[in-house]
Amino acid sequence: MNYLLKGARVVDPSQELDSGPLDILVENGRIARIEEKIFKTIAAARRSKIADLTLLDLKGMVITPGLIDMHTHLREPGFEYKETIESGSQAALAGGFTSLACMPNTKPVNDNRAVTEFIKRKSLECGLVHIYPIAAITKGSEGKQLAEFGDLKDAGAIALSDDGKPVMDAGIMRRALEYAASLGMPVISHCEDLHLSEGGTMHEGIAATRLGLAGIPGIAEDVMVSRDIILADFTQTAVHIAHVSTKEAVALVRDAKKRGIKVTAETAPHYFSLTDEFLAEYDTNGKVNPPLRTHDDVRAIKEGLRDGTIDVIASDHAPHGRTDKEVEFDYAAFGISGLETSLALGLRLVEEGILTIGQLIAGMATEPARILQIPGGTLKVGSAADLTVIDLGKVWRVAPSAFRSRGRNTPFSGWEMRGKAVLTMVGGEIRYREGAI
Ligand SMILES: [Zn+2]
Repeated sequence: MNYLLKGARVVDPSQELDSGPLDILVENGRIARIEEKIFKTIAAARRSKIADLTLLDLKGMVITPGLIDMHTHLREPGFEYKETIESGSQAALAGGFTSLACMPNTKPVNDNRAVTEFIKRKSLECGLVHIYPIAAITKGSEGKQLAEFGDLKDAGAIALSDDGKPVMDAGIMRRALEYAASLGMPVISHCEDLHLSEGGTMHEGIAATRLGLAGIPGIAEDVMVSRDIILADFTQTAVHIAHVSTKEAVALVRDAKKRGIKVTAETAPHYFSLTDEFLAEYDTNGKVNPPLRTHDDVRAIKEGLRDGTIDVIASDHAPHGRTDKEVEFDYAAFGISGLETSLALGLRLVEEGILTIGQLIAGMATEPARILQIPGGTLKVGSAADLTVIDLGKVWRVAPSAFRSRGRNTPFSGWEMRGKAVLTMVGGEIRYREGAI
């Protein structure tokens, strides 16, 4: 099937493009042309020699490169009651994502080629979105012994992280950065000093004191961001900081970039949408690691996104089952099911005037592709037709029961959102569509 996508506004940061109405011709799974009025009339399109051409009228819609989530927990193998590769892929499509990179904290941990190959095989069988496995830095993500990076790369791993846990030993982190750099593999760091965060369940501050909950101080993140910047500088390698949540971490990354250190950073939508005050009712849906912080931190995250200090918005999609969350706050699992709300929360920043839509799509597609060195993030002619059609005016309400993800754990339940992915195309095939599109 070939498609003529007619009359949309096309936003593609990889070409510094934001204009419309434009037509996009998708032929044999690739972007063949982007022009004003590719065919003067519908009859002319029908007369063209392009076989099986379907016309889609996308007036009033925005077309962007397919969104790429560089921080997803798919839970398979081992925790299929929380999510599977299939349900996570379906959630991704509904959220406008055409590619995702999945973290290695499965059971078993993705620290060897058998697990990497399993994820690759399973994702190809599902055939929904592109899935790029991120392998563990250390065996079992226990922080003690490096995994076999070369072997993992051969098997299809595209990056390395012990996400969920930090690499506490600076000597091991140094060797990981050097070894990974020699193979051209990005390293993604979950920055948390476990001695400082030990026992904590929410941000250390006034709200935690009032609730009588043990705190995770901002410095637990900051000292590790600082350490990793020093290591990246010393080893002349690149490091990507996962889920930045504090004002100080933003400042550290900004300063490091100014000094030419190869550091990139991401944040997740909940860090610019909520503060620790959300937890006043002990709602475990807001329990996440790093924790929801303060108004000052939220302001700094937004400024970091605006000025480019933070390169990426990643979902940190962390689906859980009811039994993980419907327990006392202290015992509840950390995490938010984020794939189906990320885009809409990002669009709020556009509505607030903090980001342009081009900046938002850069952070959700072009930059993740660049940092991970994976295909996508562009609508350049000749590239695979991975694209997302967004209806900016669509008003909808977050209903966890309607999630395609198995994880219904969201603090955004009932929120009214404006803007949604209404069609998601992967390799020239429509994998998701809704409404009248
Ligand atoms: Zn993490």
